[in-house]
Amino acid sequence: MTSPSIPGQPHIHYADGQLQVEGCSLDGLATEFGTPLFVYSKASMLAALAAYQRGFSGRNAQICYAMKANSSLGVLQVFAQAGCGFDIVSAGELARVITAGADASKVIFSGVGKTRTEMRQALEAGIGCFNVESEAEIDVLNAVAVSMGKCAPISIRVNPNVDPKTHPYISTGLKGNKFGIAHERTLATYQHAASLPGLQIVGIDCHIGSQITEETPYLDAMDRMLDLVESIEAAGIPIHHIDFGGGLGIDYQGDTPPAADALWAKLLTKLDARGFGQRKLMIEPGRSLVGNAGVCVTEVLFMKPGEQKNFCIVDAAMNDLPRPAMYQAFHTIVPLDEALHVKGSTNGLVCDVVGPVCESGDWIGRDRPLAVQAGDRLAVLSAGAYCMSMSSNYNSRPKAAEILVDGQNHHLIRVRDTMADQMRGEKLL
Ligand SMILES: *Cc1c(COP(=O)(O)O)cnc(C)c1O
Repeated sequence: MTSPSIPGQPHIHYADGQLQVEGCSLDGLATEFGTPLFVYSKASMLAALAAYQRGFSGRNAQICYAMKANSSLGVLQVFAQAGCGFDIVSAGELARVITAGADASKVIFSGVGKTRTEMRQALEAGIGCFNVESEAEIDVLNAVAVSMGKCAPISIRVNPNVDPKTHPYISTGLKGNKFGIAHERTLATYQHAASLPGLQIVGIDCHIGSQITEETPYLDAMDRMLDLVESIEAAGIPIHHIDFGGGLGIDYQGDTPPAADALWAKLLTKLDARGFGQRKLMIEPGRSLVGNAGVCVTEVLFMKPGEQKNFCIVDAAMNDLPRPAMYQAFHTIVPLDEALHVKGSTNGLVCDVVGPVCESGDWIGRDRPLAVQAGDRLAVLSAGAYCMSMSSNYNSRPKAAEILVDGQNHHLIRVRDTMADQMRGEKLL
């Protein structure tokens, strides 16, 4: 018997009393591969991508997956095979996408602190565009390109100064942020870049923040960007593509972000009205392509009832799931056993779900009603983005294993760290 899927997560549902990702039982995977275990739905990733593809149908558009959201090779392969480009932020990410089979010409390189070595490697690989973030970077990139006898394709990241109305740590398009070039400096910066022999101007870009759940910030940013394109082109500098960045939110806790296709229907209406409908468009979605495609399965180690608080201590921790510790983020947590899910939601013990790491910041969920005991397994939902890619070995904990589910089949895409993996490269005195 199949129960309705978890809200916002059509590929995750209870079947025969057990939580499944597509056609695979999470309990079975946890028994086979151990916990904590990340499990991703390929169908969910492709469905999220399809929403953007529908939104852009008939347009000249390139979707570049912002791979910092989840940079595991198996995940990158899914997007490379689907024809995606990639937005990278380091030479390490460049090496990963090339390994995963990406077409370098569809790679764009963002980030405020690219090193000369990274610039050289990206020029060597033949990436499609450098998204330049400061006037100083323009001169350095020009010098590196000239020294290699190459010309670097660039876009300038503009800070449109719009409020994305999200958490301050993931808001990037406001004046006080370290990202991009101020709106007022944009034209002068383009004019300077156009005068340099090692640079070829191909576009303009922005990225205003992350986990954005409203459409107004996008519409406002688009207007600001198009105003700039008009003034830059009036100065004789053609802009071939306009890149609107990423940032679309997902449903973590009843959040209601616009659907990608609905959002783009509105944005394209504006583009058309302003005469930019035929321009090459780019976007850099990260979270919205992978966030709700993944769960982290964890086992309850101990229940620790207390006078002020009850704790449910699990074997996943802030090193696996850093978002709550970093920005008080919310992840829904449900038992794999549907009977416990039903029982917990009516008369569970209210507890904080915490990991074994020696930090008070090591919590995964607060005040959650749960009817579980030691040995039961839980799924931390919406764990596909900014979890494994931000994970660490803090407390000398191994990085978790990862599984990609495809229908009834599963692929182990990352083996759990061994202690030899963790100590590799270290030397005794
Ligand atoms: C992080 C980032 C993205 C992706 O953001 P999401 O919120 O995950 O969609 C896109 N572009 C740039 C420049 C980024 O830094």
